[in-house]
Amino acid sequence: GLAEITKQVDSVCPYCGVGCQLTWNVGPDGQGGERIHTVTGRDGPANHGRLCVKGRYGFDYIHNARRLTTPLVRREGARKDPADIEAVKSGAKRLDELFREATWEEALELAANGFSRIRDAAGPGFESPLAGFGSAKGSNEEAYLFQKLVRQVFRSSHVDHCTRLCHASSVAALLEGIGSGAVSNPVADVAQAEVIFLIGANPAVNHPVAASFIKNAVDAGATLIIADPRRQQLSRRAKWHLQFRPDTDVALLNGMLHVVIHEGLADEGFIAARVNGFEQLKASVAEATPERMAEICGIPAETIREVARSFARARSAMILWGMGVSQHVYGTDNARALIALALTTGQIGRPGTGLHPLRGQNNVQGASDAGLIPMMLPNYQRVSEAAVRAQFEALWGGNIDARPGMTVVEIMHAAHEGRIRGLFVEGENPAMSDPDLNFARQALAELQHLVVQDIFATETALLADVVLPASAQPEKWGTYTNTDRLIQIGRPAVTPPGLAMQDLWVIEQIGRRLGADWSYWHAEDGDGQRAAEAPVARVYEEMRAVMAPLAGVPWSRLLREEAVVTPAPAEDEPGQSVVFIDSFPTSDGCATLVPTQFRPGVERVDADYPFVLTTGRVLEHWHTGAMTRHASMLDAISPEALVSLHPLDAVGLGVADGAMVRLETHHGGVVARASISDQVQRGQLFLPFAFWEAAANTLTGDALDAVAKIPGFKVTAARLLPV
Ligand code: SF4
Repeated sequence: GLAEITKQVDSVCPYCGVGCQLTWNVGPDGQGGERIHTVTGRDGPANHGRLCVKGRYGFDYIHNARRLTTPLVRREGARKDPADIEAVKSGAKRLDELFREATWEEALELAANGFSRIRDAAGPGFESPLAGFGSAKGSNEEAYLFQKLVRQVFRSSHVDHCTRLCHASSVAALLEGIGSGAVSNPVADVAQAEVIFLIGANPAVNHPVAASFIKNAVDAGATLIIADPRRQQLSRRAKWHLQFRPDTDVALLNGMLHVVIHEGLADEGFIAARVNGFEQLKASVAEATPERMAEICGIPAETIREVARSFARARSAMILWGMGVSQHVYGTDNARALIALALTTGQIGRPGTGLHPLRGQNNVQGASDAGLIPMMLPNYQRVSEAAVRAQFEALWGGNIDARPGMTVVEIMHAAHEGRIRGLFVEGENPAMSDPDLNFARQALAELQHLVVQDIFATETALLADVVLPASAQPEKWGTYTNTDRLIQIGRPAVTPPGLAMQDLWVIEQIGRRLGADWSYWHAEDGDGQRAAEAPVARVYEEMRAVMAPLAGVPWSRLLREEAVVTPAPAEDEPGQSVVFIDSFPTSDGCATLVPTQFRPGVERVDADYPFVLTTGRVLEHWHTGAMTRHASMLDAISPEALVSLHPLDAVGLGVADGAMVRLETHHGGVVARASISDQVQRGQLFLPFAFWEAAANTLTGDALDAVAKIPGFKVTAARLLPV
């Protein structure tokens, strides 16, 4: 109860990109230490006091007895075997059969020596056999220092993180079309939108507080159009829910574009002043009549006409989208078509309009901004540009390769082929999040040297040579950038358990042992376990110096204001929450339309695999479950993987609600519990990816979008068998 609270610490939620501000209420843990007892919402710009079930009740993972409390090194002779993942998770094997405890000194030496041996025997840059996966749930400072570690110290180009698996295609299309990968308007702008077009997103589950603002906007009179193969909680409030066939986004959107252009609904003034490529787009959708597109996407032609008119004629219309758009082998095309819809109708550059890819992880925007992607240095400065490379080479020393490094799934293939031999994974879990898990886990096991830094013995950690115990988000300082481009400050509430250390300290230690002259951590800052503010502020200020959008946001301003929207060029001015008001950040200030044509995806249903399987999330669990499966209340509410199937399919297969079923694809199989649901269409299945017991990505394939290298998680041909 509240009587136990001895300390209140203002911070920000560690889960999703909405970026809710909260207060950690801390009190005694009954064993001489402290713990977080409750969480309350604060009046932040993105949440106004609201929190969802994860933010409010999902915090005790940090006190879970399974936290890593000491460095671990693999026992001599303990072979790396993907089968150990299930064995350890299920309790059939103990963690200490694979690993022994080590001192930090020994573990850091082993970790660093493994990397230096591989580095020093091979070429740099793109040729390097070393790679690093940073984390979108780490802070901006951790993301910045991690990419610097890989580039400057590993001398490798291969640094990436889970943005590759979520919005890489959205960002590629946005950079290409309008010169910026971030959102144009904040979620809160839905209050000023006459029409809200929500496609390929389920915010009531994945961005719940954002969904609450959408509900409020609809209740106040906004028209909601949802386009998604699955129905969802918000569907009840939608004027139209377009339950189109999976993988046909481009057909639906081109049908809408055809209507806009052929019914004279295009904003000609806006196009003439600010948009290139209109004639090419017009020609490319000339044949995409609503009737033709209806045959492909399954939405009646008249409905396509009505929604296109509603969107184009609105005083203000805003597009929000999620992984349903981006996670396809033509995900970049999907995003291009959406961007074209906003540009041809002039629905951008004003309040209540614009393009908002709902960012998943709490800091996936910031991690990408900070350069944790292989093609861009901090602030999306391309490694392919000589002047950019020269700037960072002068700052960091060494050389930066002009060739962009490999991306997440490419790195896994390179590991299997022996071209990548050493991998540092900081706070990510590719042994759950990567597609085609049987392959990915095998590739991880084949690495000569795998170091994992995390707070739990994740599935990935179980394949490591060295495991380094790190800090949870409520145990450290750091800044996080939410989906609205809002940079916010996170503060430590409690001390990490056992010997667990600050992530930034660990990254610096690895860097120093590999020859870096770094000294972010000063003697007076302590040994790396204490949550020292100064080293984080030092990294932040170095990062700010190379990132123009942060120019007006010194650390002191963040402490003072808690949240500043970026870009914020001047210290005495608020940042810009709505951008592209009179120009786009391109060479001529104009956006460029990129025409797309519908193409069928690579996964096709047939007599053997007659279902379309879609993977995604559930309200109570976050991504691979590394945190939420260790949060007692969340795991109690949602303890197991449920595969949703349509009532008529259940009848056809003789499957009862709650029965165990086997799911199979060309890539693998899992057993899960059936949940009969009319949210999915006939012929569709849905499985969340948070559960190791039925690891959804065992089922997915790793064919990639050619532009953004994102896998097509949303569509896999599958069959379902009673067991
Ligand atoms: Fe946390 Fe997102 Fe829920 Fe807000 S909506 S409390 S940021 S998980």
